[in-house]
Amino acid sequence: MKEQETVSPLDVLAIAAHPDDVEQTCGGTLIRMAERGYRTGVLDLTAGDMGTRGTPDTRIEEAAAAAGRLLLAWRGNLRFPDARLENTLAARMSVVAKIREVRPHVVILPYWTARHPDHYRASEIGFEACFLSGLRKLDERSEPHRPRKILYSSVYANVTPSFVVDISAQFERRMVALLSYQSQYGASAEAAGLFPAEDEIRERLAAIARFYGNLIGARYGEPFVVKDALRVDDIVALGGRSL
Ligand SMILES: [Zn+2]
Repeated sequence: MKEQETVSPLDVLAIAAHPDDVEQTCGGTLIRMAERGYRTGVLDLTAGDMGTRGTPDTRIEEAAAAAGRLLLAWRGNLRFPDARLENTLAARMSVVAKIREVRPHVVILPYWTARHPDHYRASEIGFEACFLSGLRKLDERSEPHRPRKILYSSVYANVTPSFVVDISAQFERRMVALLSYQSQYGASAEAAGLFPAEDEIRERLAAIARFYGNLIGARYGEPFVVKDALRVDDIVALGGRSL
């Protein structure tokens, strides 16, 4: 495949069910990592075609605009069926192909329990694809690649995070990225009252980010959970406060 030769490896890849998910869950962290010089990317599994407003093509155009604002080096969309996401062999293999193409070191997945079935299925598909991608014999036409670390974005999970990233300096840019989805969040909503207007969504996301920021003594934060132990080399340099 030609694409495999053209994409340079990513440092961080976030995998999500719908366009506009990462803008609400881990977009500040992606911006902050890009500002540090890392190559970041997002793989959306669906084009949000069950959304009441806008078409899948509109959502993909909006996702591309948001990608620029998130400072992403790469964004892909597998166009799996929205609201009917299933963890099939074909779905896993499609994600494996993308992981082998962009070769991320760190992968951010949705938390593994959620209200929306697409979110927990995206988490499961993403995890299994990360594992399978390391198996050479799975598909000998592409080079195996296994990400080193998997982080779960837990903003909507109501669980104690393993760590919180300070996104105080990135919050506004993340907000601008989210508002790229004008078909979803635009003030000119044809169904006013059904969808959150810009002010409402801003206030809601600020409250959530403020809550997590407060846990680490920062203004705004994004929470993550890891299933494995985090290695620490310097306990004096640990961030945050216990007392
Ligand atoms: Zn979603």
